[in-house]
Amino acid sequence: MEFLEGKSGLVFGVANERSYAWHIAKSLTEHGADVAFACLPGEKNEARARFAVEAIGIQDPWIRPCDVTRDDDLDEVFRAYARDRRRLDFVIHSIAFADREWLAHGKFNQTPRAAFQLALDISSYSLLGMAQRAREQMAANGGGSILAMTYYGSEKVVPGYNVMGVAKAALECSARYLAHELGTYGIRVNTISGGPLKTLAASAVGGFKDMLSHAEKRSPLGRNVDGGDVGNTAVFLVSDLAAGITGENIYVDCGLNILGV
Ligand code: NAD
Repeated sequence: MEFLEGKSGLVFGVANERSYAWHIAKSLTEHGADVAFACLPGEKNEARARFAVEAIGIQDPWIRPCDVTRDDDLDEVFRAYARDRRRLDFVIHSIAFADREWLAHGKFNQTPRAAFQLALDISSYSLLGMAQRAREQMAANGGGSILAMTYYGSEKVVPGYNVMGVAKAALECSARYLAHELGTYGIRVNTISGGPLKTLAASAVGGFKDMLSHAEKRSPLGRNVDGGDVGNTAVFLVSDLAAGITGENIYVDCGLNILGV
């Protein structure tokens, strides 16, 4: 069923075919959306992203480089998008970074200022950077949907997730403040709290394998998420079926978050 017929937007964060962003883009495309991309600059990064996007079946994809720590890059992506594309109905934020040296058990208390700032800049502030630039284009069409990927380590201590947990808490809180202020333009802002998925970013988290096996053993559904679980939830949140939902965090983790022990 084509829930997203006529909708177009931008996905940030495809590194390869394992990325959550890739699964989201695939589901959005399968449901009729016209998807454009921004990826980390660099010849290798861009080639890998293009290869992955083409594997979705998108011919001649629109992909621009963007390092979200650079305002100029963000300006250029949104400017080029406005020039080349019809309308902006959604923005998907599926990016994060923290220096893996500080993502080890027992290392949070030693996190240096620069590592903390970089993690929050790339993983949290970037959502504001995108929302600021998306606002006018979305408002011109009566609104839109901004969606960011997060993880439960924002709420509870997940040893090894460390400064990423702090960054995710800031990301989720930023989504709520943005939802409050941008609602007046018809723009909805939500987060998906995804279960552990084997990706490049996840491999930097200390003890990630244990997170995967714990989730498989303990989650009410008795399995780990697959990318499609998150992709389909993204379809719903981007679609008009979710027109009344903003400022929310939706768990797509096979129910793991409901457990106390
Ligand atoms: P991934 O490595 O495939 O994606 C991370 C992306 O962030 C990459 O495309 C990378 O290029 C991009 N990125 C890093 N620094 C950047 C910068 N300065 N500018 C622009 N882009 C930059 O890993 P993933 O697991 O798919 O991560 C996507 C999102 O999902 C992240 O927000 C992550 O925290 C979140 N998430 C992941 C899991 C998991 O277990 N994999 C669970 C819950 C949430």
